[in-house]
Amino acid sequence: MVSRIVIVGGSAAGMGAAGAAKGTDPTAEVTVFTEYEDTSYSPCGIPYVHGKEIPDFERLFLGSKQQYVDQGIDVHYETTVTSIDVKARHIVADGKQVPYDSLVIATGFDYADPGVPGSDLSGLYYVKNIRRAMEWDKILDTVKKAVVIEASPLGLEMVNALCHRGIETHLVDPSPWALSVATDPDMAKFVEDSWVEMGAHLHFNTKLEAFLGDNGGLRAIATSDGEIECDLAVVCTHKVANARLATAAGLATGSAGGLIVDETMLTSVPGVWAAGDCTEIPHGVSKVPIQGLTGSHAYAQGKVAGVNAAGGKRTYQPVYVPWGMVAGKWMIGGVSFSETLAHALGIPYVLGVGQGISRARYYPDSMPIRVKLLGEPGSLRLIGAQLVGGEGIKERADFLAMAVRTGITLRDLATMENVYSPPIGALAEPIATAAQNALSNLGK
Ligand SMILES: Cc1cc2nc3c(=O)[nH]c(=O)nc-3n(C[C@H](O)[C@H](O)[C@H](O)COP(=O)(O)OP(=O)(O)OC[C@H]3O[C@@H](n4cnc5c(N)ncnc54)[C@H](O)[C@@H]3O)c2cc1C
Repeated sequence: MVSRIVIVGGSAAGMGAAGAAKGTDPTAEVTVFTEYEDTSYSPCGIPYVHGKEIPDFERLFLGSKQQYVDQGIDVHYETTVTSIDVKARHIVADGKQVPYDSLVIATGFDYADPGVPGSDLSGLYYVKNIRRAMEWDKILDTVKKAVVIEASPLGLEMVNALCHRGIETHLVDPSPWALSVATDPDMAKFVEDSWVEMGAHLHFNTKLEAFLGDNGGLRAIATSDGEIECDLAVVCTHKVANARLATAAGLATGSAGGLIVDETMLTSVPGVWAAGDCTEIPHGVSKVPIQGLTGSHAYAQGKVAGVNAAGGKRTYQPVYVPWGMVAGKWMIGGVSFSETLAHALGIPYVLGVGQGISRARYYPDSMPIRVKLLGEPGSLRLIGAQLVGGEGIKERADFLAMAVRTGITLRDLATMENVYSPPIGALAEPIATAAQNALSNLGK
């Protein structure tokens, strides 16, 4: 019998699952439901179109709707799945029951509710769906003053975008520094100083208390430090799992609020897999489940869920979460723990910090790179890293994530070999310098 695979969600996880399911069993009937008008586009590029670094939204579309038709994947656009019956094995969409043999839940994330009065005013922008982004982009032409609510990864990107756009930009965050879960203040300072150079107004240690309006439109925000006038608020609160549909059907969620899955992405209910931001996945070092990872995690998880939903066999590993982005004029990134997060989790560490350069010192545009490494006391196994600099951050974050995953030590890193070529790398590698400094701090 041909198997019927239903997927709820048409973003990174859902479409990853659809392609993988069809690839595993070309005879399977694969049906995708999405609330949105489109599937095959990159939301990650939206801030850069707003900032006019990418000239138009059309470039963010990765393929046509016809490509799914050609692959035999039946996508139902603008269709909300309203319930799931896991005993009868069907979902309900448009008032109709759709039976399945395997179900993949890929319903993604919502931005956390700011939880303050005035959230119903017009002028609050939640950056997600590309069609809405196209509409907001026109509105941005008329905006004079904007606030970005919270220095999350998206918040950092939107501060850059609005500044590039020439809009007076205020960043409001209750924490003492930017991206405070993933970074330490000495690393974030590079970014914050460059935002000030770009004209951004930074309001850290400042709590949002209300959105204030006139005639239904946003006029200002009220904060613990007074009012800030604005005609736009970009709400960049942290991501929470959108698991409502699944929990209503009886699927279990965990301590981080995401759907619990095993290493095959199977949920607590047989025949139902889940992937992407609606799930939670154990951290490779702390073993603590975490939620709200990235698009690349969602896509990879979707592929695992899709293969298994179609009768194949694939597993997903715990995560170490390499990350990186452009913020201010710098690139900033890391993997696993910052000092701040290690403290919060009660994880002991030894530390090494190193400063280096991205190219030979005499080569044009050579830029600084600062590296901070955290090692496990005793074994000196690498357990976390942060990087900030002018270039070469992504590659180093990816390398260090693999180093954490494979148990590389600070001693290994202190004696690592590195590429030296004036336009692409300096004689001394900043990662090695940081590791050498860690050993020297320990008298080793
Ligand atoms: C502006 C922006 C910038 C980003 N930048 C980056 C980046 O630089 N790097 C990176 O790695 N990632 C980035 N991401 C990715 C992001 O942070 C997430 O990790 C990723 O989108 C998660 O994918 P997902 O498939 O799990 O869910 P989502 O992208 O949240 O998609 C959820 C899907 O489920 C559908 N859905 C939900 N409920 C229902 C229902 N009841 N019925 C039918 N359909 C439903 C929605 O229509 C949607 O298709 C960015 C995302 C955005 C929005």
